[in-house]
Amino acid sequence: MDNNDTLRHQGLRKRLVDGLKIKGVRDDRVLAAIGKVPRHLFMDSGFINFAYKDQAFPIGAGQTISQPYTVACQTQLLQIEKNEKVLEVGTGSGYQAAVLLEMGAKVFTIERQKELYAKVHKFLPSIGYSPACFFGDGYNGLPNFAPFDKIIVTAGASSIPIELKNQLKIGGRMVIPVGDNNKQEMYVVTRVDENEFKTEKHGRFLFVPMLKGTVNS
Ligand code: SAH
Repeated sequence: MDNNDTLRHQGLRKRLVDGLKIKGVRDDRVLAAIGKVPRHLFMDSGFINFAYKDQAFPIGAGQTISQPYTVACQTQLLQIEKNEKVLEVGTGSGYQAAVLLEMGAKVFTIERQKELYAKVHKFLPSIGYSPACFFGDGYNGLPNFAPFDKIIVTAGASSIPIELKNQLKIGGRMVIPVGDNNKQEMYVVTRVDENEFKTEKHGRFLFVPMLKGTVNS
């Protein structure tokens, strides 16, 4: 692991994982992955002391790195198996993508803000994580790489985008927060058959909004 990942960081990470267990996160593989990813390296240096608190934090461009509890819940709901093809909408800091890679998934991640895309595209490989990074509007998914076993959306959508549903494999699952700007409900959408989808709800969360189009600066 990276030279900048000290015993102190590892100790703080273990406490974070213990806290997530107390909050009800049960999937040992998810907890193990969160226990491995050096979250402090994904945050601007000014926030490093907060890296292992169970809180969301600013990452620039008006966006946030999701709260670890939220990352744990979404990842748990995805039911990741090794080598599965996973599409993430909303790369942000790249932290969620790193957690998925730790679990053995093949990750395709898309971000609408060029500044964040460019930063993560360089940074993640420098600490040993190599998802396929794309700059674009996640509402369109990645038709050239579909279908996916799993899709995770890490921004709040006003409804479930049909393009994303259609990029799921039969039997595939999508985890997506749906609601207005103030709060969303976590939906799990399973593609039962070509034209049949099943939807379950899994509690309230708060995300930055999923927006249309791209930002080039
Ligand atoms: N998964 C991220 C969370 C980032 S916050 C992490 O682990 O840090 C959500 C991100 O979704 C923001 O970076 C935002 O710019 C991005 N986003 C919002 N709407 C989007 C869209 N339509 N397509 C792609 N990314 C989008």
